[in-house]
Order: sequence, then structure tokens, then C-alpha cells
Amino acid sequence: MATETPQQIEDLTNAFVDEHWDPAITVRDWWARLADARLSHPSLPEAAGGRGWSAAQARVAGQVLARRRVVGPPGGLGMLLAAPTIADHGSPEQFARWLPSILDGTEAWCQLFSEPGAGSDLAGLQCRAERDGDEWVITGQKVWTSNGHEADWGMLIARTDPDLPKHQGITYFGFPMRQPGVEVRPLTEMTGRALFNEVFIDGARVSDANIIGGRGNGWKVANTTLTHERAGIGGGHGGGFGTASPGEIMGELGQPVGDFLGRRPPISAGGVGRRVLSVLSEEAERRGRMADPVVRDALTQVHMLYRLAELTLQRQAAERRSGRSRSGLGAGVEGNLAKIGNTRLLHQTRHVAGLILGPDAALVGEEAATGGLLQELTLFSPAPSIYGGTDEIQRNVIGERGLGLPKEPSPDKA
Ligand SMILES: Cc1cc2nc3c(=O)[nH]c(=O)nc-3n(C[C@H](O)[C@H](O)[C@H](O)COP(=O)(O)OP(=O)(O)OC[C@H]3O[C@@H](n4cnc5c(N)ncnc54)[C@H](O)[C@@H]3O)c2cc1C
Repeated sequence: MATETPQQIEDLTNAFVDEHWDPAITVRDWWARLADARLSHPSLPEAAGGRGWSAAQARVAGQVLARRRVVGPPGGLGMLLAAPTIADHGSPEQFARWLPSILDGTEAWCQLFSEPGAGSDLAGLQCRAERDGDEWVITGQKVWTSNGHEADWGMLIARTDPDLPKHQGITYFGFPMRQPGVEVRPLTEMTGRALFNEVFIDGARVSDANIIGGRGNGWKVANTTLTHERAGIGGGHGGGFGTASPGEIMGELGQPVGDFLGRRPPISAGGVGRRVLSVLSEEAERRGRMADPVVRDALTQVHMLYRLAELTLQRQAAERRSGRSRSGLGAGVEGNLAKIGNTRLLHQTRHVAGLILGPDAALVGEEAATGGLLQELTLFSPAPSIYGGTDEIQRNVIGERGLGLPKEPSPDKA
């Protein structure tokens, strides 16, 4: 564990901004500088291009980038999921091939896990991978693929050994998205955006060298990705004031980075942060709603849930360092707890936003109150109860793995 104090991290990040920030350089150049300084994803291990910082340490750097009003590191599923999964399971060649382009934002990733018949029961997936020389031929359908339309690579899980029990015989690939046999069709959500897609794969190819974590180990590797997805909600990378899209497809890498100042990411897995809390409070003050004790009480609950999330993260980091669990929970359920906590926070935020905005909560778009932020958050708020495993699945995992309760009855466990 890296030992830098918060003050040292602040000093180091400030010095980096003083030396390197220039709104006239391109997004590509800015992100290259962040990656060279190991500030894109500092909680990755050093060998993977990070600094081995804890989430809390990485958050300090992100807060400095936000305070200095400079654009943050690339976002997206490459940073959130692919990079830590490759760091945990990849080979040295895979580190060299994939990590630099994730950290400098030149390639974007998506997650090809869910299928029409395999969501909560992910291990029931049907997508097939058949060996052909040094390659695998992939056939199947994926769905709810966030950012699939802008991705260069997919974290693909497919069945390589159909005769084995369902949790075995699954293999995890780094799958090239831009090739014949891959069709990405957008699905529009009720936010009005098309964040996710259906992906039809018909005879597309992937090299054997792109297997991450070994043939037949896909279930284990996928669980690493899911753990990062759940824990990433309160995670430490990111930060900054403004964002751009990673990868060539969205066409933003060549534009001046200063053009992206203040551009907020769509409400997404990152959930709700301090910024939303201050937007809620300012809007309540502006509308004279702070005088209403119901509004004050509901706002206090948002604040408490946010503090609870922060303290839980700190406690978990301390438990990891000491190797002792004060909560009495079995290991490995921190991410599940973090995800449920974030979902509750988002739902409470939606409730308060409605109380404060009243009928204005029905107006969407940039010209609406709060620039449409609270409305977008409201429309997006059902999603975190579903993605990365539904609330019910998180509770099952906490019950079974964390509390040692008997397993749910199910046909495969009978
Ligand atoms: C915004 C968003 C983005 C997403 N992005 C991606 C992505 O990028 N890549 C990707 O692969 N997937 C993605 N997903 C898909 C997501 O992971 C699945 O929707 C999720 O795992 C649930 O699967 P399902 O939709 O098939 O629902 P089902 O599994 O059919 O579940 C239906 C209902 O049954 C309940 N249920 C099922 N099994 C149990 C059980 N054992 N015990 C108790 N209750 C149970 C569930 O909780 C749920 O309420 C995304 C979803 C959303 C909403």
C-alpha cells in the first residue's frame, strides 16, 4: 500500500497541474500527460500504470483536479472495469497491449456479459466460442451493453466448453468490437439517451492470445469485473472538472481539452456525489424550500447516507490494511454493500429532488431547473438497482457469503 499522505498527494497533483495543464492542447495530449504521471487511475498497481493508492488516496487527487477546474482522466468501462480486471488476471503482454490505451483514453471498452436469457443467472449464458486454429469464432447475442456503440474492445464472456457444468467452461476474452460479424444496435432509455445497446455477434473472431485469465476461468475473471463494478461506485479514480469521451469513435480526442471544461458526465455508475448534494441544497435555498422541515429532514437523510457511504469505504480500507473485519462480515462483500448503499442514496436523492422542484421536476433538458441534472438523475434512478447485479442479487450474496446464511434453493444447487 502506498504511503503518501493526503497533503503529499495534494502537493503532487497541484504541481502536476501547474506544469502540464493547458486548455489549448488536445484531449489526447492532456490524457497522455495524466497517464505518464500515473494520475489517470492511481489506484491501479504500479506495474499496471497506477500508483497503488487506496480509493481514498486516489479520491484526494481527483478532488484537486476538480478544484483546479481541469478536465479529469478518461472515464468509461475501460477505466472502471477492464483495467482493474486486466491488472488482476492479465499476462505481461496483455498489460502492454491494453493498459496504456485505457489509461490515456485512446481506446474505449464495453462489457459483453448480459444476454436476453442470462442476467441475474449470468452463468447460464449461451454465447458460444469455437476454436479455429489460433482463433475463436464467436456467435451469440448480448444485451444492455453500455457504451457498446463507442467501444473498441469488449470484455466478452462466452462458453468454450458446453459439456462442462455451467460455471465452468466459460472463458473471458478481450474482444475486438470493430470487425465484420459484430452489429451494435442502440436501445433508447427513458432518460432519452441511448446509453446501452444490443450486440449481435455472428462468426466474429478473437485471437487465443486475447483470453484473459486462462481458458475455462471466465467465471472467476467475470466475478473480478463485477466486484470492481460494485465497489467502483464509491471508487477513487476520476474527478476533475469536465469530461470527454474515450476512444476514437466519438471523435473528441483531437479537440482542445478546454472545450470540455464543465461538461458533466451523464448520470451513471458513479452515482451521486457531493456535487449533487450541494445542487440540492442551493436549489432548496433559492426556492425558499429550506423553511420546510420535511425538506430539511429529507436533505439531512441524503447527507447521512452520503457520509455513511464514505465512512463504510474508510472502514473497509482499514479492515483490508489490518486484515481484521470489525463488521463480522465474511470477506468479499464490500462491493455489494457499497452498491446497495449507493442505490439507497440515489433513491433518496430522487425523493428530495421531487420535494424541492415540485412540478418543475417534470421538465427535462438543459434549460430546466438545475440544468436538468436532478431530472436526469430521477429518470436514471431505477438503473443502479439493476446493473452490476440487482438489489435482490446483492442481498443474496451478502446473506450467503457475508453472513453465512443457507443458500437460496435453486435447480443448479439442488
Ligand atoms: C443502466 C444499465 C446498464 C447496464 N449495462 C450493462 C453492460 O454494460 N453490460 C452488461 O453485460 N449488462 C449490463 N446491464 C444488464 C444488467 O447487468 C442486468 O440487467 C442485470 O444483471 C439483471 O438481469 P436481467 O435484466 O436479465 O433481469 P433478471 O435476471 O431476469 O431479473 C428479473 C428480476 O428477478 C429478480 N431475481 C432474479 N434472480 C433472483 C434470485 N436468485 N433471487 C431473488 N431475485 C431474483 C431480479 O432481482 C429482478 O428483479 C445493464 C443494466 C442497466 C439497467
